Amino acid sequence: MEDCIFCKIVAGDIPSEKIYVDDKVSAFYDINPAAPVHVLIVPNTHIPMVNSLTEDHAELAGHMILVAKQIAGEEGIQESGYRLIINNGAHGGQEVFHLHLHLLGGQRMRHPMG
Ligand code: 5GP
Ligand code: ZN
Repeated sequence: MEDCIFCKIVAGDIPSEKIYVDDKVSAFYDINPAAPVHVLIVPNTHIPMVNSLTEDHAELAGHMILVAKQIAGEEGIQESGYRLIINNGAHGGQEVFHLHLHLLGGQRMRHPMG
């Protein structure tokens, strides 16, 4: 999709170090990390948000989580722990409208529910 920053990263139109790529998803470091490890896992196709998902995306959605687990291992944070976040829409704080799973770790995260 034109004018989508993550589509451009997937396509290689914006330079970014991809740490994982397969036929379904790509992963790269967040430009403004909120933790020592902050990786974004995105579908290679333009899906705006969780609201856009259908049953047809069930395998892709599960795959995103499994890729996050694999990258957590490669980043050395599988044992110490990590957090996976998907922001959806305005109240969820979503800023980029191309679905992405945040993988955060390398420090103890503050509990989001206080
Ligand atoms: P959201 O708030 O939509 O869940 O998260 C969007 C994330 O994308 C933010 O953490 C932000 O730092 C990251 N981001 C925005 N633009 C870029 C970019 O051009 N490159 C990378 N690597 N990350 C980006
Ligand atoms: Zn996109």
